[in-house]
Amino acid sequence: MREIEKTARHFSLLDVAPTIAGVLKIDLPQADGRAIPEVIGWGCDSVVLLIVDSLGYQLYEWLSPRLKNIPRLVERGLLLRASSVSNRTTPSIASILSGLLPEHHHIVDKEGAKESSILSLPEIASAQGLRSAVVMEKNGAEVYSGLIEIVNGISDRMDPLEFDRASCQLSLDALSRRPRLLVSYFIGIDKAVHMGKGADGIREMAILIDACVGKVVQAASSRALIVICGDHPIHAGKLKRTQEPYDVALIMARAET
Ligand SMILES: [Zn+2]
Repeated sequence: MREIEKTARHFSLLDVAPTIAGVLKIDLPQADGRAIPEVIGWGCDSVVLLIVDSLGYQLYEWLSPRLKNIPRLVERGLLLRASSVSNRTTPSIASILSGLLPEHHHIVDKEGAKESSILSLPEIASAQGLRSAVVMEKNGAEVYSGLIEIVNGISDRMDPLEFDRASCQLSLDALSRRPRLLVSYFIGIDKAVHMGKGADGIREMAILIDACVGKVVQAASSRALIVICGDHPIHAGKLKRTQEPYDVALIMARAET
């Protein structure tokens, strides 16, 4: 077990934004989380953040024997158990991207995200001269229109497998323009849960996302930091997590092999 996991430090999704800000050497105005110094010490100069909806910690442990590329990242990086901050997607993602608790960013829905004056990582990075990209469902992506360099929206009416395939391709397209920060969103596991697809359906989505992670790692700069995290544990259906801890998987590794 790696040194960082032996320490008593408790990790949270709130630590993602301060850590990324530290890696990119940009100023995050305020945050409720703390940077992870070991990760900043890896000397990365760009970041790819892949948000995988509903990737709970226990779910990742169950999925990992069937995956290839994400476990490879874990082998050379970190797999952390991170506390979630909400069981809903929009406030969780706002926390991941701002480092603020939901009661501090006050973003509860997509309309709120559009109206909010809270700055999130892609806007902060662009404002400080770093090319940024987002790949997410249309409503979420529109928030960034005109504020950052690369905005790729995907219709959330798409079939979940198609959505994640599109997200993968648009992420690869964005990486060809060498952004210093790319934030991409994968919906398939969460949709499979809401559609009542059960374990096999969830696994199918996870295998697709894992294949995409392999392509993204290949396409990213060798000095990129790859961050993969869930937004909350499974929050619906038969596999809904109903007791503490409400942890998600937080994976961080350098892109280079
Ligand atoms: Zn979600």
